[in-house]
Amino acid sequence: MPRKLAAGNWKMNGLGAALAEVTALAERCPSPKAEVLICPPATLLSRLSAAAEGSPIATGGQDCHTATSGAHTGDISPAMLVDAGASYVILGHSERRADHGESDATVAAKTHAAWNAGLTAIVCVGETEAQREAGETLGVIQSQIASSVPDGATAASTVIAYEPVWAIGTGKVPTLKQIAEVHDALRGQLNERFGSEGNEIRLLYGGSVKAKNAAEIFAVSNVDGALVGGASLTAEDFGPIVEAL
Ligand code: PEP
Repeated sequence: MPRKLAAGNWKMNGLGAALAEVTALAERCPSPKAEVLICPPATLLSRLSAAAEGSPIATGGQDCHTATSGAHTGDISPAMLVDAGASYVILGHSERRADHGESDATVAAKTHAAWNAGLTAIVCVGETEAQREAGETLGVIQSQIASSVPDGATAASTVIAYEPVWAIGTGKVPTLKQIAEVHDALRGQLNERFGSEGNEIRLLYGGSVKAKNAAEIFAVSNVDGALVGGASLTAEDFGPIVEAL
């Protein structure tokens, strides 16, 4: 199993001054047990990659296009992310699925494009509150995985993030039993589809992870790290989460 992963998703947050948080995080966690990743907005990616140079902090994008270049105003290609220092890209985040109408097929095409550029794709899946209440959680997530993760996924190329939509940015967190139920089911699905490689693909939990709940979530079976939004924005908040892994 590759090292556990603490991934921060800054979303549309962070001006130049936020780079100081990366320096502070590197100082606070000079040799973390887990891999540490920050995915800033595209405007900060080059500068953040430079600021993190020589530290254990990797950088990533929050989305990418399927093409390498071309007439796609406002988009960013996987090659551009690599050029800006990224080694990861988050794909299919529920905010992109909801705000930009991204389908599973779109996410799969973006994942392919990311792999071709040498990026590791963090593919996000998760149920809405209505789907959970209707008892559809496992069906929804397993169908998202089946259609968003292309054949050929490996532990080096792919990370899966389980992020219940209703837990993102809300302070609501599933019970540890609910997290285990989903992660165990996902592990079974990955094993069945990808054989021994499926056992090595990291499964992150995301949704209102904070310093106070990180350790108990990380102790849940088949939780190999976290994708963290709000609590990844400062070294003070993210440092303890990294240290809990
Ligand atoms: C996220 O956006 O991926 C996320 C998990 O956000 P938060 O930690 O703020 O709930």
